[in-house]
Amino acid sequence: MRKILSLILLLALVGQASAQLQSPEQFLGYKIGTRYTPHWKIVSYFQHVAANAPKTVKLQQYGQTNEGRPLMVAFISSEENMNNLEAIRANNLRLANLSRDKAAPNENAAPIVWLSYNVHGNETSSSEAALMTVWALVDPANTKIKEWLKNTVVVMDPCINPDGRDRYVNWFNSVVGVKATPRMDTREHRDPWPGGRSNHYNFDLNRDWAWQTQVESQQRLKLYNQWMPQIHVDYHEQGINEPYYFAPAAEPYHEIITQWQRDFQTTIGKSHAKYFDANGWLYFTKLRFDLFYPSYGDTYPTYNGAIGMTYEQGGGPAGGATALTEEGDTLTLYDRAIHHFTTGMSTIEIASINASKLITEYRKFFNRAVSGGFGEYKTYIIKNNPKDADRLQALLQLLEKNGIEYGTATGNGKGYNYFTAKEESFSVANGDVVVSAFQPRSAMVQALLEPKSKLSDSATYDITAWSLPYAYGLQAFATKDRINPTAYQKPAAVVNTTGDVYAYVIKWEGLQSAKTTGQLLQKGITLRYSEVPFEVNGQKFDRGSVIVMKTSNQAFGADLWKHVVDAANANNVKLYPVTTGFVDNGGDFGSDLVTPFKMKRVVLLTGEGVSSLGAGEIWHFFDKQLEYPVSLVYANDFSRIDWAKTDVIIMPDGNYRFMSDKSSTDELKEWVSKGGKVIALESAVAAFARLDWGLKSKKAEGDNSKDPYQALASYENRERDFVSTMTPGSIYKVQLDNTHPLAFGYPEYYYTLKMDDNIYEFMNGNGWNVGVLKKENQLAGFVGSKLQNRLKDGLLFGAQNIGRGSVIYLTDDIMFRNFWENGKLMLCNAVFF
Ligand SMILES: [Zn+2]
Repeated sequence: MRKILSLILLLALVGQASAQLQSPEQFLGYKIGTRYTPHWKIVSYFQHVAANAPKTVKLQQYGQTNEGRPLMVAFISSEENMNNLEAIRANNLRLANLSRDKAAPNENAAPIVWLSYNVHGNETSSSEAALMTVWALVDPANTKIKEWLKNTVVVMDPCINPDGRDRYVNWFNSVVGVKATPRMDTREHRDPWPGGRSNHYNFDLNRDWAWQTQVESQQRLKLYNQWMPQIHVDYHEQGINEPYYFAPAAEPYHEIITQWQRDFQTTIGKSHAKYFDANGWLYFTKLRFDLFYPSYGDTYPTYNGAIGMTYEQGGGPAGGATALTEEGDTLTLYDRAIHHFTTGMSTIEIASINASKLITEYRKFFNRAVSGGFGEYKTYIIKNNPKDADRLQALLQLLEKNGIEYGTATGNGKGYNYFTAKEESFSVANGDVVVSAFQPRSAMVQALLEPKSKLSDSATYDITAWSLPYAYGLQAFATKDRINPTAYQKPAAVVNTTGDVYAYVIKWEGLQSAKTTGQLLQKGITLRYSEVPFEVNGQKFDRGSVIVMKTSNQAFGADLWKHVVDAANANNVKLYPVTTGFVDNGGDFGSDLVTPFKMKRVVLLTGEGVSSLGAGEIWHFFDKQLEYPVSLVYANDFSRIDWAKTDVIIMPDGNYRFMSDKSSTDELKEWVSKGGKVIALESAVAAFARLDWGLKSKKAEGDNSKDPYQALASYENRERDFVSTMTPGSIYKVQLDNTHPLAFGYPEYYYTLKMDDNIYEFMNGNGWNVGVLKKENQLAGFVGSKLQNRLKDGLLFGAQNIGRGSVIYLTDDIMFRNFWENGKLMLCNAVFF
């Protein structure tokens, strides 16, 4: 009996212990840093903490990844704050002038510190640090931290990119032995293609904050913009030999960043330095990581009123679990995690110490915003041209995702014309989009819409131009005058109905028309496109208009029109019914100016040597936007690919091994001449220029200067000298021959993002020069002085016919990060026509 009683007691005690709050080590059964924690276990630990500390921790799932993993944040604060969490959030939006509730905000509020971990999946130590951090915040023994949480709300996103993290962690665990080795040439230090850095579609989520092309960013930003923290930290890793990096950031800073934001970066940096000094850890500040491109985890929060920062630990994918550094030290996963843990705690501490100042300055930022105090332009006008309707709608969606208000107006004014790069007069008509600088998101408005962002320093980490009217190919003006917009009426949804017609015509005006076309082709419907403009039944149609006819589609019988109407309605595309194929102008539908076309089987080359980002942009575009099938193959499997089952090969940016093998390129040429089509992008174009197929790279400019002293470069200026030979991403106006199918649906120009010095000689008799760079066509961004002469009088986009097939050359990244909206139709043209 006694024995039974004590057994019952023991069981009860065990039950109690397991229901109690556990440290990560107790919960996981190993010490943090001794092995990698897979994402599901990170989720489990956060669930455990929330379940056992319900008064101070709240977990919220805000979405899921492409591969179905949960995305979540934990809110952590004092019991009193947690009881008022919704009131704190509502008050915070009032502080930012973002609330419909115009009651005066409480300026004695708790600042919100948002910590984002592991955006780059193979920079893994930060999610391990997140486990240590959440434990420190709830550990009953930790009384000092309880004091901080009385006036601070912490939001932790333990893993922004779970698919990338698990890709890395699963791979690492599959190649490591009983003991990890610090030897750097072993396979466990070589994360294979495409690497764990990116998300499922090979996108860099730390370039996607503003554009939100990816599901992770879309769902996270929705939540972020409902909270609008005062401090945001984005955790990263860099090369294993790099010391820790924390704020203050490097130049260039975007000019909209306030003095307070600059100063507080230093305050935070000094706090971290205190802890790093005490531990003898090496670090640096003010170098490399700048605050300019608006779509990072540091700049985006900064342009939204926060102190936005990047913290970088040495480690990254090459770090494995233990790594030998150049200085002979061993860097372990634990070392990496404890450094990130330390800066996290220091950030919360400094926020608590400066709580009141953080709130007052945050309030000032948004009061300045609503009085139009950021940037020289006070209003942006984006013209509503009928042919640009798709891209205008896409732009409005982007503004909405970023909480930017817009409207419309009527009248006249004077301002900067994005197309001519000159001050000119303009008129605003109802339906044009008007964005005022007098709004809470004013800083973001300037960062995204201003024609040129001023660079205080040319050595930056990313592109230097992204102005939305260029990226979206829209006609726009920026004026220093204030225009008050009125409510915007979006066009009503298109409703087509079936009728007794000879044909339906789809105008080729954007992604939606391409999507409709792609869907009809997938059903097996044969379509036709007109190579010339035409006029029929009193309606005018441009080149590239797609015609659906009963001819060649007999198999669909009476259902044909229903398929067409359904697809068009689903994509909000207007169908033009036509009663005759006898045109008043242009080519009759039966003439050879109207070309039939069918479903194309598209293959995308991927794998070792191919840019994972370049391939990912195309994969994501086909899979998630165009919704058209694409088969991904490994480029190094060139000899195994079933060419007979392929109509189009897309070669993204990359170095292709088979392109330097004569028998492979002969085989490729043979396939093309039989009717195949190759679409080469970026450096893949350069590989064709090295063959004798006809395309030639433009020769480097001869060095005209005879000054021998030019060779004497100053060592101190080495970085600056390098910069003079590059363009990190600037915008050029390309002259288009829109009579060629590659440029159907475009005006006579295209704004391209130039990220390298690749340019080709005009094709003479052996191809079509569809997009060419003429003189002085640079519109925005930085171009090194030594490059300015080279980037003119050359070919960027071309088409070469070989036998019955063709090769399309697209020198620039027309799909850049999938936010370069204006390039998408060109890829559709290349595939379909
Ligand atoms: Zn990173």
